[in-house]
Amino acid sequence: MKGFKDKNCKNCKQDLPVYMFKQNKEVNPDNICNKCLRTVKRREYRYAKDVASRQIMSIALRSGHLIKQPCEECGQVSSVDGHHPDYEKPLDVIWLCKVHHAREHARLRKLLAESDV
Ligand SMILES: [Zn+2]
Ligand SMILES: [Zn+2]
Ligand SMILES: [Zn+2]
Repeated sequence: MKGFKDKNCKNCKQDLPVYMFKQNKEVNPDNICNKCLRTVKRREYRYAKDVASRQIMSIALRSGHLIKQPCEECGQVSSVDGHHPDYEKPLDVIWLCKVHHAREHARLRKLLAESDV
């Protein structure tokens, strides 16, 4: 295309026209294309939500508003962690052991990856 130089996105490794890149260093410090930027932003947003809901959860645990339960999958009581199916509801917690918590996140990641396409 005339007037548009291709640029390589460091994230998806695709050569894309420059208008697919945000020039603002603050918005796009890693120089990745708009599509990747959107995915990264969504991931950061989810991460921030996760951290926030974890903080609320630990306060609720300490004050006794929330009580740890055995893993919902296998009934194990040690190293049980609270999982948030909905980050908007930090006190809506599913209790899962390390193994099942990791499995649940792997499942969610797969779901998200499929919906990202
Ligand atoms: Zn990209
Ligand atoms: Zn379990
Ligand atoms: Zn979780």
